[in-house]
Amino acid sequence: MQGCLFWRGESGYEEARCGRIFNGRRPERYPAAILLATSEDDVVAGVRLARAHGLKVSVRAGGHSWAAWSLRDEALLIDLGGLRQIELDREAGIVRVSPAVTGSELNGLLTQQGLMFPGGHCPDVGLGGFLLQGGMGWNCRGWGWACQRVMAIDAVTADGELVHADEEHHPDLLWAARGAGPGFFAIVTRFYLRVRPLPGALTRSSFFYPAALFDEVMGWLYEEHPRLAPSVEVVAVGMGSGGDLTASAAPVLLVQGLSFAETPTEAREALAPFERCPARSRALLEQVLVPTTLAAEYVEQRRANPKEHRYAVDNAWLNAPATTAIPALREAFVSLPTAQSFSLWFGMAPLHPLPDMALSLQADVYFASYVIWKQPADDARCRRWLAEQMRRIEPLSEGLFLADSDFTTRPARFMDESHWQRLQAVRARYDPTGLFHSYLINPETPINVNPWSQPGA
Ligand SMILES: Cc1cc2nc3c(=O)[nH]c(=O)nc-3n(C[C@H](O)[C@H](O)[C@H](O)COP(=O)(O)OP(=O)(O)OC[C@H]3O[C@@H](n4cnc5c(N)ncnc54)[C@H](O)[C@@H]3O)c2cc1C
Repeated sequence: MQGCLFWRGESGYEEARCGRIFNGRRPERYPAAILLATSEDDVVAGVRLARAHGLKVSVRAGGHSWAAWSLRDEALLIDLGGLRQIELDREAGIVRVSPAVTGSELNGLLTQQGLMFPGGHCPDVGLGGFLLQGGMGWNCRGWGWACQRVMAIDAVTADGELVHADEEHHPDLLWAARGAGPGFFAIVTRFYLRVRPLPGALTRSSFFYPAALFDEVMGWLYEEHPRLAPSVEVVAVGMGSGGDLTASAAPVLLVQGLSFAETPTEAREALAPFERCPARSRALLEQVLVPTTLAAEYVEQRRANPKEHRYAVDNAWLNAPATTAIPALREAFVSLPTAQSFSLWFGMAPLHPLPDMALSLQADVYFASYVIWKQPADDARCRRWLAEQMRRIEPLSEGLFLADSDFTTRPARFMDESHWQRLQAVRARYDPTGLFHSYLINPETPINVNPWSQPGA
């Protein structure tokens, strides 16, 4: 074994436990040991070591799961941060990538070749956790889920074997790797990803409205967004404060279209509907048809998601009509508990049918709220605010997206029932003794039930 192994109590253990966890709220969960793997051989050796010691296994790639899923009591945590491969086969249009590589690292290289991969919006999210749970990457609305670009994986299974999974070999393993998230039951050591050409005219139009216009602007956006060109990623963001940009300390509503068009003319046409919002003349600030780059968008995302802060997040898939959804969402957009916090409304319509993969739940609208604060003394207030929002929104929800979830706070349906059953069956075949930790949840809570959307509930 080349990597470092830290048993609990040894010097270096605490840094290995939490040093790469993004959320400043660090859970009191303590693995028995942590292996900082540097190669596939280390991962194989780690799995065999865990079996020999009777330990369960947990995994970390980029360390960005909000609930720190990698931290499990008494487990062997295998941290993949030391595996750093990015290898492009230009002719095949495939890049082979290690799971701890981030979206911005990958695109930093691909964009030099006129290519890109729709990784996470936040530059530092690891591809491992992001892809396994589906991956709502750049222009998910138009291009589909990032996991649909996972053509194959290499993975170490519970018996300590390194296998290659694609449509012909271990197809069930590949099926599960596209959406099972932290319920995946092997360790992916390499993703084979289909890249796409870098669009020729990345362009953004942003409109900042006073929060008081929420109902009017959102009413218009609900109507408009299914008609937008497929090249447009559309988002409304309730921001706790307008900040430097609008010179306003009050909450604001940002409506933004990011066009992944090929030419400036195409981008202008695709973003023109944003200029026809009836409330436009009352916007605090507008930035229309701004040419941009992925690198510039990453800077913005890094600013919005600062490190060394405490986070609580939750989310919901919504198909509710505007008349019901807007009143239920309003508070989450206009009453954010801290200046840095924000709530997102992603328009996903018209939805594309999903291929056969574990990810099986989506809806016309994705809502997520990100509460951000610094002081532990604000934990209870900030978390209570989020719980209050979700209590109002839950009755409208189709379920949730794993990426922005924390089942220790609020478990809910995240997969179609038949897919859930199939996932259990495949898991039982590949990991019959339950070597790998699965979804992090309070043991007595059932997870594939959404009690708030049951008919009659
Ligand atoms: C600031 C921020 C912005 C985000 N933006 C987006 C976004 O735009 N779109 C989106 O879809 N999501 C987004 N997310 C959510 C993010 O994709 C998930 O939290 C994801 O789990 C992070 O992956 P990771 O590898 O960094 O996390 P980790 O905590 O390292 O991994 C999470 C879990 O995934 C599993 N896992 C990871 N790698 C492997 C592997 N190689 N083999 C087996 N299991 C593995 C393990 O169970 C692990 O505990 C964002 C998160 C943050 C913090």
